[in-house]
Amino acid sequence: MFEDTIAAISTPLGEGGIGIVRVSGPAAVKIAGKIFKARRGEWAGAEGGRLIYGHIYDFAGALVDEVLLGYMKAPHTYTREDVVEINCHGGALPLKKILELTLAAGARLAKPGEFSMRAFLNGRMDLAQAESVIDIIRAKTEGGLKLAVGQLKGVLSEKIYSLQDKLLGLLARVEANIDFPDEDLEEGTMQEIALQSAKISEELQELIRGADAGKIYREGISTIIIGRPNVGKSSLLNALLRENRAIVTDIPGTTRDIIEEIINIDGLPLKIIDTAGLHETEDIIEKIGIKKTKEIIEKAGLVLLVLDAARELTGEDLAIINSVGDKKIIFLINKADIAEKRIDQNKVAAHAAGRPLLWISAKKGTGLDQLKKIIFKMALEGRIANSDEVMVSSVRHKHALEKAAAYLADAQAGIGDSVPVDIIAIDIRAAWEALGEITGSTVTEDLLDRIFADFCIGK
Ligand code: GDP
Repeated sequence: MFEDTIAAISTPLGEGGIGIVRVSGPAAVKIAGKIFKARRGEWAGAEGGRLIYGHIYDFAGALVDEVLLGYMKAPHTYTREDVVEINCHGGALPLKKILELTLAAGARLAKPGEFSMRAFLNGRMDLAQAESVIDIIRAKTEGGLKLAVGQLKGVLSEKIYSLQDKLLGLLARVEANIDFPDEDLEEGTMQEIALQSAKISEELQELIRGADAGKIYREGISTIIIGRPNVGKSSLLNALLRENRAIVTDIPGTTRDIIEEIINIDGLPLKIIDTAGLHETEDIIEKIGIKKTKEIIEKAGLVLLVLDAARELTGEDLAIINSVGDKKIIFLINKADIAEKRIDQNKVAAHAAGRPLLWISAKKGTGLDQLKKIIFKMALEGRIANSDEVMVSSVRHKHALEKAAAYLADAQAGIGDSVPVDIIAIDIRAAWEALGEITGSTVTEDLLDRIFADFCIGK
């Protein structure tokens, strides 16, 4: 438990009906008591889990705002500490003033993610669960939300704990043999251990295999719609957006705030990269050059190449095709609705070389359902988030799983090579520890700081 009490504005800055200043720690109630007066008598000694109506006053006795105070007592709170949430009017000024008053009354400004970090360190949830909070907040589609909420509930953690249990079981069997010289070991014992370890490996690999799809559900796949001028890129984007717009987010902190369009493909977020007005009818290759085009494609996880059915393939089309490299690409022949087709499908198919090729009409909307199916299949490689499958969605978790798998592979190789059992035991223990990084049982302070720094203040 911590000795200091932290405070922060927990709602986004801007105008809103309400805004919340959250205070957590042993002095939370005392601090609130200095600035909050309940309409009806004393509140601080009362039972927690209540909303109390009253007013905030500054130290000179001037009225600051009319508020509802959420009063929650340890340990039944988000952080397991006493928590007070001051629900004031959602303007920048009342929020700022109330935050300043809590600080003047003895709180310290919370660091990014510090409430969630305390929730973890005070044992309310494990690390994977704490991390899911940010994923819930940032979820872009229902698919991503489902994974994040499952992770908060502990679905992933349970799987990791069960794998750790199995590793401990394996370790116990291996260690039982440490005191025996090799020749005394029963023939079958090591074989049995190897078999068990192979089974655990397979479970690890299964999680690792699903991680790329999980990451896409969580973050989306960045997608570029590319092609010569007038082939129908904007028309395609608009056609896809019409029914499937998920959310538009502003990404602050850039010179010009970038608008990120997200298209919802059955729960899979498609993030459209819009750089240098690529979707306007401009000659992109001429305007920004091949090198730049390549750089932009480099950033994409998926390329939608649009070709014009009304025109023959040009050198420019080929230049774009050649810039794509080994990126996932879908060849689209647009304007399928026009009568006079000039494009040579066989030629396009030769360039597509087995990669998906589809006729569409952005104008009429034909082929778009098929396109969505192909995108879905390509992006997720057939993996669909459903409620009973455990899916890893964070790169950090994937790395920890890979580390565990590598140690276990070493252990297995060791068994094959008749390496002394105590060495094998070390590898199995290391695999167990690597998994602990996911749930936080074996995590370092340094890593914690890095994880929670990704959160915003107030979470
Ligand atoms: P961009 O420069 O690649 O973004 O192309 P636009 O989306 O601006 O489209 C260029 C022109 O092609 C416009 O006049 C569109 O109306 C037309 N166009 C786009 N898609 C289709 C289509 O599927 N069929 C037909 N017939 N015309 C289309």
